[in-house]
Amino acid sequence: MNRISRFRMLIALVVAAIALAPLVLGNFSVSLLNDIGIGTLVALGLVLLTGVGGATSFGQAAFVGIAAYSTAWLTTAHGMSPWIGLAFALALTGLSALAIGMLTLRLGGHFLPLSTIAWGLSIAMLFGNVDALGRHTGLSNIPPLSIGSFSLADARSMYYLIWLIVGLAFLFSYNLMASRPGRAIRSLRGGSILLASVGADAYKVRLSLFVLAAILAGLAGWLYAHMNRFVSPAPFDVRASIEYLLMAVAGGLGQLAGAVVGAALVLVAKNALQDVLPLLTQRAGQLEAITFAALFILLLHFARGGLMGFLRRITKGRLQAPQSADKLGEPAAPLAHRELPRRGTQILSVQGVVKRFGGLVAVNDVSFDVNAGEIVGLIGPNGAGKSTMFNLLTCTLPMSSGKVRFLERDIAGMPQRDVARLGLARTFQHVKLRPHMSLLDNVALGAHSRTRSGMLKAGLRLDREEERQILHEARRQLDRIGLGDRADELAGSLPLGTQRILEIARALAADPVLLVLDEPAAGLRRKEKMALGDLLRKLREEGVTILIVEHDMDFVMRLVDRLVVMNFGSKLVEGVPAAVRADERVQAAYLGSVA
Ligand code: ADP
Ligand code: MG
Repeated sequence: MNRISRFRMLIALVVAAIALAPLVLGNFSVSLLNDIGIGTLVALGLVLLTGVGGATSFGQAAFVGIAAYSTAWLTTAHGMSPWIGLAFALALTGLSALAIGMLTLRLGGHFLPLSTIAWGLSIAMLFGNVDALGRHTGLSNIPPLSIGSFSLADARSMYYLIWLIVGLAFLFSYNLMASRPGRAIRSLRGGSILLASVGADAYKVRLSLFVLAAILAGLAGWLYAHMNRFVSPAPFDVRASIEYLLMAVAGGLGQLAGAVVGAALVLVAKNALQDVLPLLTQRAGQLEAITFAALFILLLHFARGGLMGFLRRITKGRLQAPQSADKLGEPAAPLAHRELPRRGTQILSVQGVVKRFGGLVAVNDVSFDVNAGEIVGLIGPNGAGKSTMFNLLTCTLPMSSGKVRFLERDIAGMPQRDVARLGLARTFQHVKLRPHMSLLDNVALGAHSRTRSGMLKAGLRLDREEERQILHEARRQLDRIGLGDRADELAGSLPLGTQRILEIARALAADPVLLVLDEPAAGLRRKEKMALGDLLRKLREEGVTILIVEHDMDFVMRLVDRLVVMNFGSKLVEGVPAAVRADERVQAAYLGSVA
């Protein structure tokens, strides 16, 4: 059996087990499964937000609470239908998440998780202190759900609704991960510069992910309110948030299925503890909290990947979801190409650019131009300021003074992503790839700014034609650099030299006007260097303009049309390779330091 059919079989088994469970289980187990389903929704949001996106939230229960209280209030105080309560609850949860996210998601380091504790605490406190929400006694007599005249008042009928919603949430998340916005989400970890270099806004990506996780928690809150028919502040406080986080960690933050596995683990364990602890002590409540804390610590020590991580290791990935890319066919039409400027027109003009790092002047009043269709080399000894120059002209770093014009536009001070969208694609001296993503996904990331599908479209699979176009383009670029047959391997498994070449494919997937390459040949063998030279010459023929930093003089001299030489931050000489090679100042600069 191949991987795809094995995976389908596994899913079919799980779905059948869920569908049949209420027929054989008692009332208590069905209620427990209902709680697990609700916990799964919240934990799924956390797997996406924390596991995939790298932002930890200690306040997720607050979103469950906002939704539960919204629908409770609307249906009890105003007698509205729970289905209107659903729309109201999700809208309010989404808007709260948007507001909180805009206030906190720019915070770096430990400040973001700390802030989640702060708003988690304050929202739970709010529930207990507002008269309309019943203060600490909460709201009761919440109506049960019904579909037409069919009531979902008993646990068994609720069960099917809960698990239907869980199933849909998984389908949505699974679709999302294998899409344009999904790739951006998976790239969030490891800094925003890579995303900006492909024209994406990491903050916006993180904000929409935060809202999505809150909406999943909101769905859970709505179900909770109409299942229990009663809400009070306690189930939405920070302790509950930590329990949700524990679910995600116990199941495994690395994969979506960790959410359901973790919710089951934690809630079953909690039930067992509630049965056993009272036999041992009168302070069962406190002991339960301590036991959970100890479990959390043990998990972080011994099983970071959670139960799913462990399963994955012993099954060696045989039960993993296949790359959905395998199933997508060819697109009806390839992605549209940019019109390249006419050969010889000036596309980049650097004028008097200065960059100071404190007292160090890394780039000192450098000026040069680049015309369409040429390959310009930037050379100079180590520390001459070449990489800094690249960071300035791609707007990766702000310049201290000077002007840079790209395609008739003043780009100094523009956000890096906007410059990337104009058609300036780059690679990095210190490679920036996502090692846990496949080669294909890494390259597909490059096409981000040429495509549009957002999270909703992707989750509902309305993005498939565009996704085919993206993957087709990514494959084409991979073939071009000779890695087409390794598309599904992980980028982290490549040798460093090959990773640099992979970055070129990613840059090419952006359909650039100007390609800026920082030491692309470093770490390559002779034959690979020759292949790279051929590729760059071919790109020039196609009309792509290239600016390149390279240390291998033979390689550069045979490749470029023109050279700019930097030394100690200043421009030393500019000219055709033969003239530069003969220049005494250049020879002195290279002999004077170890290049
Ligand atoms: P090159 O790429 O030509 O080898 P760089 O542009 O990396 O040179 O560095 C030029 C100078 O600027 C070096 O002296 C380097 O130490 C310094 N430099 C580069 N980046 C920074 C930074 N972020 N902060 C402080 N100094 C820096
Ligand atoms: Mg450098």
